[in-house]
Amino acid sequence: MRVAIYNNETGESQRVTKLLRAEIERAGLVYDGHHPEVVITIGGDGTLLSAFHHYIDKLDQIRFVGIHTGHLGFYTDWRNFEIDDLVDSLVQDSGQSVSYPLLDMRTVFSDGTVENFVALNESTIRNITRTMVCDVYINNQLFENFRGDGLCISTPTGSTAYNKSVGGAIMDPHSVGFQLAEMASLNNRVFRTLGSPIIFGADTKLMLRLRDTNDHVMTVDREQLRLYNTKNQRHLLEVSYQVAKKRIYFARYRHTNFWNRVKDSFIGGGK
Ligand code: NAP
Repeated sequence: MRVAIYNNETGESQRVTKLLRAEIERAGLVYDGHHPEVVITIGGDGTLLSAFHHYIDKLDQIRFVGIHTGHLGFYTDWRNFEIDDLVDSLVQDSGQSVSYPLLDMRTVFSDGTVENFVALNESTIRNITRTMVCDVYINNQLFENFRGDGLCISTPTGSTAYNKSVGGAIMDPHSVGFQLAEMASLNNRVFRTLGSPIIFGADTKLMLRLRDTNDHVMTVDREQLRLYNTKNQRHLLEVSYQVAKKRIYFARYRHTNFWNRVKDSFIGGGK
């Protein structure tokens, strides 16, 4: 089996990386950062997001495994003191995996150019200098006119991240769809939006057509994309979202119950 390690730069992650690399070689597994079958991330959920984008062109050939150097994360099933157990699982690997849906985005600019992106957690769009104004289309039909700070469009596994902070619902990660959540929408006698998050199914296409032309910032997971330039030669006109054809695969050597994870992370102790 060909294995790669992708770690963040903290001292603890570097220590665990060194240890794991030695254990991998001792167990007779092949270290291959270019064409891995399994990518082990060491750090947190954020590190897994970075690894996902690093290997985005090879998603169909890779299964991910996350080691968390702090608390247990949402994409990380292993802790830093479980290296031996993980290497045993790699040696006994029988190809077991679980996969989750991703979000596909198609951005269209005023000069006719089109750029595509894929998100594991979410994409947000905001206007950084004034109120964002856009028309929201569901399956090509106008649904509402949005005014506010911005919109957050998340995957099922991303629903526990930014989406949750802006009042979105948590989605079962096995559901296939995506979610739209508002960020500080303006709602009064003149402007009106639905005011609640919407969960779309597998076949829905969501489109945002921007009414204003300047100062939009779009995020794709950890990345921030400025969608204008100072000379204003091109600006973002519209963004379409749908469930991506690609999925992310994890090597499922152990099962951590998702709802226990949600409880541990957001509710804690209690009886
Ligand atoms: P960060 O701002 O350094 O950390 C964001 C936090 O979100 C970290 O604690 C991270 O966990 C956690 N996280 C990441 N994915 C998650 C998921 N699917 N479910 C639950 N928690 C998750 O940013 P970052 O590490 O570069 O991560 C980028 C993500 O941060 C974005 O995709 C977005 O979801 C989130 N974010 C949230 C807000 C907000 O809630 N207001 C604002 C900006 C960005 P670890 O500590 O394990 O890495």
